[in-house]
Amino acid sequence: MPIKSVFARNIFDSRGNPTVEVDIITDLGLFRAAVPSGASTGIYEALELRDNIKTEYHGKGVQKAIDNINKIIAPELIKAGLEVTQQTEIDEFMIKLDGTENKSKLGANALLGVSLAVAKAGAAKKTLPLYKHLADLAGNKEIILPVPAFNVINGGSHAGNKLAMQEFMILPTGASSFKEAMRMGSEVYHHLKKVIKDKFGLDATAVGDEGGFAPNILNNKDGLELIKVAIDKAGYTGKIDIGMDVAASEFQKEGLYDLDFKNPQSDKSKWITPEKLLGLYQEFIKDYPIVSIEDPFDQDDWNAWTNMTAATSIQIVGDDLTVTNPKRIQTAVEKKACNCLLLKVNQIGTVTESIQAHLLAKKNGWGTMVSHRSGETEDTFIADLVVGLSTGQIKTGAPCRSERLAKYNQILRIEEELGANAKYAGKSFRKPQ
Ligand SMILES: [Mg+2]
Repeated sequence: MPIKSVFARNIFDSRGNPTVEVDIITDLGLFRAAVPSGASTGIYEALELRDNIKTEYHGKGVQKAIDNINKIIAPELIKAGLEVTQQTEIDEFMIKLDGTENKSKLGANALLGVSLAVAKAGAAKKTLPLYKHLADLAGNKEIILPVPAFNVINGGSHAGNKLAMQEFMILPTGASSFKEAMRMGSEVYHHLKKVIKDKFGLDATAVGDEGGFAPNILNNKDGLELIKVAIDKAGYTGKIDIGMDVAASEFQKEGLYDLDFKNPQSDKSKWITPEKLLGLYQEFIKDYPIVSIEDPFDQDDWNAWTNMTAATSIQIVGDDLTVTNPKRIQTAVEKKACNCLLLKVNQIGTVTESIQAHLLAKKNGWGTMVSHRSGETEDTFIADLVVGLSTGQIKTGAPCRSERLAKYNQILRIEEELGANAKYAGKSFRKPQ
């Protein structure tokens, strides 16, 4: 019997909200996976099924998704008799069972939990490490370790400060190994803590959802300056680049951008046009070693995206724009709206579709950055995914908080296992080779 049982339960994510965990039992044992959840979600994402019962978990219960696994997916999947190594067939089977375009019947969180657990069981069946199994599923022959993009300053919907732009990241592209990149990230993070403490006091060193600091600054350039100082103090100037996730859909209002959007009394006369926002980015790129900007504009402001991608040589990442969805990616390719895919497994809902999204991006000359969500668990699946697909870059928070470090720590173990064969993407993180 290929799959003996599939069982889903309610666990809690890093924000203390309910999420789905799935156990699959085969003749080789128990394989477990947990589903992450985002706070700033693109409107085109696959549907994360929540109970919406206001008196339970503020509407965030996932009992329906769990029931859908235990009462619908589990019996059907066991009846189908598919092998756990048949990832594509199993994912397609579940997609068919759901039957909707955005997985709204059974829930993308239900499908994903099963899909992730199947991949782990499949790797065991083939007696391969998970990253190698995923590499095989994607047809990837060369294993490359990613540059970590540490989100060290949090703003936007992830933090209770005034900062509009959501993530300020450091990318140790000048490291020679993943291990060295971790050391650089950790050292800069602690320097940054001291810089913020000296400037704003100890209470400014509290951290946001992804482990980055959330000092109560309003000017986004001040965030970049704090990072620049911390990199310098750590002695890594020239070896660490900067990335941003602006998550601009969160503060687009009536076609304009409100950089004071968390203030209910924000001054409407100060909202800026996409052209002015582009000018601000160009200033940032000139003054700081910025190599990557994600979601610089609203998810439907296509013209602004196209203008920006044409106007700069840095990496422009689509997240809310593309939501790991092949149709949205295709449109973005045609409009030359960006040149990198942010890959989030829960935006699309299965392992197979995640691999396909990456391959579609790659075929069109884009990069791929694998990403966690702001609501995470101790599951480290995406660490093996980024190595298996060898996309060259991953963002999974600051080097702080164990649900973030769990992923980075897993990549350390993989690097150790690869030994002399380990290869770090470094400066070629956009097109690793
Ligand atoms: Mg984002």
